[in-house]
Amino acid sequence: MSPIEPNNNNQPQRMDFIRQIIAEDCEKGTWGGRVHTRFPPEPNGYLHIGHAKSICLNFGIAQEFGGKCNLRFDDTNPSKEDQEYVDAIIEDVRWLGWDWEDRLYFASDYFQQMYDWAVELIKKGKAYVCDLSAEETRQYRGTLTEPGKNSPYRDRSVEENLDLFERMKNGEFPDGSRTLKAKIDMSHPNLNMRDPVMYRILHATHHRTGDKWCIYPMYDWAHGLEDSIEGITHSICTLEFENHRPLYDWFLDQLGIYHPRQIEFARLNLTYTVMSKRKLLRLVKENFVRGWDDPRMPTLRGLRRRGYSPEAIRNFCKVIGVNKFNSTVDYALLEHCLREDLNKTSPRVMAVLNPLKVVLTNYPDGQTELLEAINNPEDLSAGTRQVPFSKVLYIERDDFMENPPKKFYRLAPGREVRLRYGYLIKCQEVIKDSAGNIVELRCTYDPATRGGEAPDGRKVKATIHWVSAAHALDAEVRLYEHLFTKEDPEDVPEGQDFTVNINPDSLKILTGCKVEPSLKTTKPFDRLQFERLGYFCTDPDTRDGHLVFNRTVTLKDTWSKIQQKGDTE
Ligand code: ATP
Ligand code: MG
Repeated sequence: MSPIEPNNNNQPQRMDFIRQIIAEDCEKGTWGGRVHTRFPPEPNGYLHIGHAKSICLNFGIAQEFGGKCNLRFDDTNPSKEDQEYVDAIIEDVRWLGWDWEDRLYFASDYFQQMYDWAVELIKKGKAYVCDLSAEETRQYRGTLTEPGKNSPYRDRSVEENLDLFERMKNGEFPDGSRTLKAKIDMSHPNLNMRDPVMYRILHATHHRTGDKWCIYPMYDWAHGLEDSIEGITHSICTLEFENHRPLYDWFLDQLGIYHPRQIEFARLNLTYTVMSKRKLLRLVKENFVRGWDDPRMPTLRGLRRRGYSPEAIRNFCKVIGVNKFNSTVDYALLEHCLREDLNKTSPRVMAVLNPLKVVLTNYPDGQTELLEAINNPEDLSAGTRQVPFSKVLYIERDDFMENPPKKFYRLAPGREVRLRYGYLIKCQEVIKDSAGNIVELRCTYDPATRGGEAPDGRKVKATIHWVSAAHALDAEVRLYEHLFTKEDPEDVPEGQDFTVNINPDSLKILTGCKVEPSLKTTKPFDRLQFERLGYFCTDPDTRDGHLVFNRTVTLKDTWSKIQQKGDTE
């Protein structure tokens, strides 16, 4: 079976080691030809771009191999989990473009089955109730170089274990006083196999099961059971679980139940980004950002608000591929994938972020003409629109220099430039205020150059964007830089943490920007290109005629440059 192109993206799906394994399994008929994966988030935070890698891998494989992928909440730790996160995760996976049909599952729905299986292990003499504290358990475990010691409670009778475990479940004991442990081998070279904890006592209200349970299963015990119950064929997880695989296998083998295959891959790390939910939570809680959906956050909500399209993120996940070695992906590659998509899909509009007034002295007072502008030169089916032109315009302050250096070809005293979709104009006079600041340019336009070409064939070097002052709308524009000043935010002096590397200038707010009137009807999350300035996205703060735009990314593609340099070296 060969993988097919999902989602009609432009990047073909590459064969990686996981797809190789699955293709071989299909060929051999290992799972009766079935492919069934799952994406198992813990609802203790919002999804981030790292999760997108896992989502695209699991759902992508299911799609390519004609299989299924479940969305399953691994909700086994009520102290950190919340319905708010469940709802957000559902929304975000859907936004990314994936569909689990009717297969939305919760680990908490399996609590009774897990409990029954634990009782079975106790009966088989493979699990025991232990009264060691968490600290004592750590001490008994030993180290990588030293074997552990058997717990003094290890040889309790099956009857006593059954009795104590039931009483644990019934809420007779305080938090932390007892655990249920697997009876494996305290001198096993793999520390995870040294009598790992299966259940702990936690009197906490669960967002789904309420107060029904006061013992909760540990990840290693629960995860394989969840996979087994759902008939998963390939349980794909990140590399740090490689050392847990023997335990995953042990539990399923002891119970003799359906046994999926765990496969590990390297998690995504990105430069200038922290990805752990704990750290992202700190950024939100300590007000380093405005919320989980702050456009500087690597969360899917943050990226969405920033202007990322699901297609761009899915393409990025294809481009990075999967492998077995931890590495860090250059943020510029993510932005490259973003530009590739936005270039094809974003309507072009004109906006002036830092306006300078231009008066066309020879243009008739009170006249407005409509100029035809192309909505997207990359997609002519997007059509054209009419942009009003009149006597007073705004141009970008940066597009004028009173004393231009050699290579500056834009507007300057006595110099002619082309207005995008409009006329050639020539700067005749510079008006300044009493402090010497330039406040206005007086220019003339050449009526014979409508459309931008001079009939006499004279050349102008630059084309600049503009808006008509009488028609323009006011807007607030938010410009973003990386949230961290260092490629590796964890690179910090002794005793400090990643927050010392936060970029104090990661958000710059511009007010008094001017945008063309077609943006009157823009809606939150619309993605646009402001000509010559970059890609922008309408922010959800836009309301009641107050327009707010986020700069998604500039036009300059540093990744392509890096690549070209690499090619010629
Ligand atoms: P964190 O370390 O941020 O708390 P997590 O791994 O505990 O993340 P889960 O909700 O358990 O978060 O993750 C759900 C799935 O997403 C898991 O299968 C996990 O392996 C995967 N995942 C999480 N982070 C990444 C990442 N950076 N790259 C790839 N996959 C990831
Ligand atoms: Mg996890």
